Amino acid sequence: MSAESVRRAVEKLADNFAADRSERQMRTTLAREDFGLLAEAGLQTAGLPAERDGLWHSLPESTRSICEIYRILAHGDSSVALVCAMHPAVLSFWLATPHVPELDTGDWSGQRTAVFDSVEQGAWWGTITSEPGSGGDVHRSRAVARRDADAWRLSGQKHFGSGSGITSYMVTTAVPDGEEDADWFYVPVEGNPFDGSAGITLMAPWDGHGMRATQSHALAFADCPVERFAWPGHLDDLIDAAAPFIGTLFTAVVLGILETATAAARAQLAPKAESLRPYEQVEWAQAELEAWTAEQAYEGMLRAIESGNPARGAALRGKTIAAQLAESCLLRICRVLGGGTFARHSPFGHWFEDVRALGFLRPPWGLAYDGLVADSWEPTTGGPSSPGSR
Ligand SMILES: Cc1cc2nc3c(=O)[nH]c(=O)nc-3n(C[C@H](O)[C@H](O)[C@H](O)COP(=O)(O)OP(=O)(O)OC[C@H]3O[C@@H](n4cnc5c(N)ncnc54)[C@H](O)[C@@H]3O)c2cc1C
Repeated sequence: MSAESVRRAVEKLADNFAADRSERQMRTTLAREDFGLLAEAGLQTAGLPAERDGLWHSLPESTRSICEIYRILAHGDSSVALVCAMHPAVLSFWLATPHVPELDTGDWSGQRTAVFDSVEQGAWWGTITSEPGSGGDVHRSRAVARRDADAWRLSGQKHFGSGSGITSYMVTTAVPDGEEDADWFYVPVEGNPFDGSAGITLMAPWDGHGMRATQSHALAFADCPVERFAWPGHLDDLIDAAAPFIGTLFTAVVLGILETATAAARAQLAPKAESLRPYEQVEWAQAELEAWTAEQAYEGMLRAIESGNPARGAALRGKTIAAQLAESCLLRICRVLGGGTFARHSPFGHWFEDVRALGFLRPPWGLAYDGLVADSWEPTTGGPSSPGSR
């Protein structure tokens, strides 16, 4: 399957989603049918390597074509786009690290086969790594994983699990029994009720102001069976390889929302352009500047990745500034359009809250700025690495 054919099929769906925008923006839950349609459109192949007829060739070759699909999907439905973005985001841990050193080579290769088999069988992947009190820093995980014969069992509190109830597997972190540092695991969740009977309890259903229908629930795990990543003790290495892709993907989703909001605002404002007050004209011009600059930041991220040089720093800068610009741009648009944007039937209040998600997505604000500030004093080849966000 080619990225272009998936992009075209997803674009058709996004157009249909956009036609139902007012109903969709009021949703607080995901519709499973959407995921069936997106699977038929081939979107799950964004998480498969080329040798499996997937869209992933390598970080420099594939980031743009995959991110563009998500940018287009976000034109139709913010929540669906964000949830679907988690799929290639977490699968990129295996995609961007095709080989590992000798001791773990066989196990890693076997795990990649099993993970990609699951995608071919229809699984959507997501993540529930965040923990209350960790500030989004995976190194601060307090969840624990204990050995039980040949299996691992996870216990701990997690939240922000976008796509909970839709995904079949969720990537997470925990401190393995007898070890000091957190490591990666994944939880098979398909068909598991969140009532505690399978070791997973729904603690708080998602009630976000923005990304309302992402089902980013808080879950508690108690002795829940999990799989450990087959390259144990390499949490940071796996993040380093995948982070530029993940940051650019999240940025693509928010850029798609920003484009849709700016176009809708322009359509509303153009007929009364002559009667706009000076303040409104300036705010609108500023909003357009910010939308344009956010797009340049995204282009800069892609170009850094496509250069083949370390791109983690550029991706972090791009994601952070795009988050600031998107939030500011939507604020200005709402000011110019007026108080009606507070109404739930207006799309703009929804978009305003939706774009605010980018700054909280990994690495969230505080961690992002740790990396940006550290790098400004001690520049590294690849730019800021935001240690806590790894
Ligand atoms: C729309 C959206 C979707 C997201 N999707 C995902 C996802 O799919 N997977 C994922 O892993 N992460 C996801 N995230 C989370 C994100 O990656 C960050 O981890 C998160 O935003 C960090 O939140 P925080 O800074 O509030 O810190 P956190 O420490 O995570 O705190 C969050 C909340 O916990 C409370 N809290 C703080 N300290 C404590 C404490 N000691 N004990 C108890 N409660 C405490 C705070 O009051 C706050 O409300 C998502 C975030 C958003 C906004």
